[in-house]
Amino acid sequence: MKKTGFVYDERYLLHETGQAHPESPERLKAIYDHLVETGTLEKLIRIKAEPAKQRWIEAVHNIHYIMRFDEACVCGMGEFNHPDNVICRESSEVAYLAVGGVLKAIDSVMSGRVERAFCAIRPPGHHAEVDKPMGFCYFNNVAIGARYLQQQYGIEKVAIIDFDVHHGNGTQHIFEEDPTVLYYSIHEHPSFAYPGTGREFESGGGNGVGFTKNSPVLPGRGDEEYRRLIMQDMVPAVKSFKPDFILLSAGFDAHIDDLMSGTNLTTDGYDFVSQVILNLVNRYTDGKVVSVLEGGYNLEMLPLLVGNHIEMLCELRTF
Ligand SMILES: [Zn+2]
Repeated sequence: MKKTGFVYDERYLLHETGQAHPESPERLKAIYDHLVETGTLEKLIRIKAEPAKQRWIEAVHNIHYIMRFDEACVCGMGEFNHPDNVICRESSEVAYLAVGGVLKAIDSVMSGRVERAFCAIRPPGHHAEVDKPMGFCYFNNVAIGARYLQQQYGIEKVAIIDFDVHHGNGTQHIFEEDPTVLYYSIHEHPSFAYPGTGREFESGGGNGVGFTKNSPVLPGRGDEEYRRLIMQDMVPAVKSFKPDFILLSAGFDAHIDDLMSGTNLTTDGYDFVSQVILNLVNRYTDGKVVSVLEGGYNLEMLPLLVGNHIEMLCELRTF
C-alpha cells in the first residue's frame, strides 16, 4: 500500500538562476525524470503544492524582509542581497510555493493521508536567516515547517536533522534559544566550506542550550567519519530529545562526486545516514517524517541519491 507522499510541481522550475548557477531548475528535472524511469514515482502519493500564506512565512521571517524580497522580484532585480542569490520575476512566487509544498506535506502526514513525505522543491531554505537570504536560500522552508507543526497542529517537539554538506546557519539561528526544536547538523567544516558556522561548541543559547548539536566533518573525510559522528552525536541527541515529529534538511552535496564540497561520502554512506535516521523516525515519531530537499549539485548523482532516499522512505527500511 502506498504510504509515502511526494511534492513536486513544474512551477518550481520557474525560478531561473542563469546558465552558470549550480542551483538550477535542471536539478529537479533530473530528479523527476529519474523517479519516472525507475518506477519509483508510481509508489508515491502525489501531494499538490499551493503557495504558503504569508502569515506562515512571518512565523519565521521578518515582514520587511518578505516585502523586500517580493519587491526585488517584481522590480526585475537580477540578484537579492548577494550575487549568490540570483532571482527572476517569478522567484518569490516559487519560494512561496516551496514553503507551501512543505506545509501541504505536513498536512498530508497529520491527516493520515500519507505516513511520510519527500518534498522535491526549490529554492532550498536552510541558509535563509530571519531577515537575510543566503546561499541560494530565501525562505527557510524547514524552519517554517517546524513552526507550522507547532502552531497549526500543537506538536510540541520537532527535531530537524540536516545532512546537507553545508551548515544550516539560518535554521540554527532561528531556533538556537528554543528548547522545543532540536537542530542537528552534520556538515563539512572548516576549509572552504560555506557558510563557516556550525562549530562543535555552538550548542544553543538561553533556554535553548543543548538543543543545537553540530558535527563538523573535515574536508577529505567520508563514510567512516560520518558513521562515527552519526552514531556518537546524532543518535544520542535525538534519543534524549524524544521528538514528536522529524523534519529533514536533505542535502546530497556531501557526495564524493559533488564539486560543491570536499567531503567524500559515497552512495553507501548516504544510504547509511538515511537508514539510521529512519530507525529514529520508527522509534520516536511513529514513522512521521517529512524530508525536504536542500542542496545536491551533481546532476548525475543527485537523482540517484534522492531516488535511494525515497525508496528507503517507502520501505522505512531498517537494518
Ligand atoms: Zn549544501
